[in-house]
Amino acid sequence: TEELIIQSEKLSVIGQLAAGVAHEIKNPLAILSGFVQFMQEEHISDEYTTIMLTEINRMNRILEEYMQLARVKQFTYEEVDLSGLVKETLLLMEAFASLSNISIKNGIQDDCRIRGDSNSLKQVFINLIKNAVEASPKGSQVEVSVKRISEGYAIIEVKDEGHGLDKDQLKKLGEPFFTTKDKGTGLGLMVSFKIIDQHNGEVTVTSEPNKGTVFSVKLPKLPKKSS
Ligand code: ADP
Ligand code: MG
Repeated sequence: TEELIIQSEKLSVIGQLAAGVAHEIKNPLAILSGFVQFMQEEHISDEYTTIMLTEINRMNRILEEYMQLARVKQFTYEEVDLSGLVKETLLLMEAFASLSNISIKNGIQDDCRIRGDSNSLKQVFINLIKNAVEASPKGSQVEVSVKRISEGYAIIEVKDEGHGLDKDQLKKLGEPFFTTKDKGTGLGLMVSFKIIDQHNGEVTVTSEPNKGTVFSVKLPKLPKKSS
């Protein structure tokens, strides 16, 4: 079993560039997409336009996740009902999971309230549950739990019985564009780790190839850092 505590140094690199570049690329891409769609409707070289549209869509997906980074900065810290938020996310992801016949178990044990940015935190839980479901074989289970480990901290865990990660893959988690999926962007975890870091929290990943993976997010009740 491999274990890794995510370091925050990895997080800062790409962040600042995000907003401007993404916006600049989105517009020409939309124009390009329009013309290629037109070519497809007119049946001008069908074979090539299909490939072009697939690639344009891929660029769009990357840009959209990339642009989330920019939004991460505008945090508003408020009182968050963490258990309620996790439960909400869990229900939201149930439909997605059931498409692959995967059940999501509600393992929420404690009622936890923290100070944080609820939209960003929800984004993190969606990312983690989505990844867990995507790594899981049909018929397996993903368990999501919330525990209060002491007065000052809560732990949210997302556990799957999926394909897991080897040592090298584990090291790459959170690096921009690291993905093992055909339609992945490799940005979900980078964004998620950054959000947790901004809450002065910590992510620990434990994984065993072919057995499963646990993402464990430790969040302080009060984020001390003011960033
Ligand atoms: P994406 O989901 O678009 O690939 P992420 O940043 O969300 O990007 O995840 C990066 C990579 O980390 C995934 O492609 C996958 O290889 C690996 N990964 C993330 N979560 C899990 C998990 N629960 N089990 C196995 N591998 C995972
Ligand atoms: Mg993902």
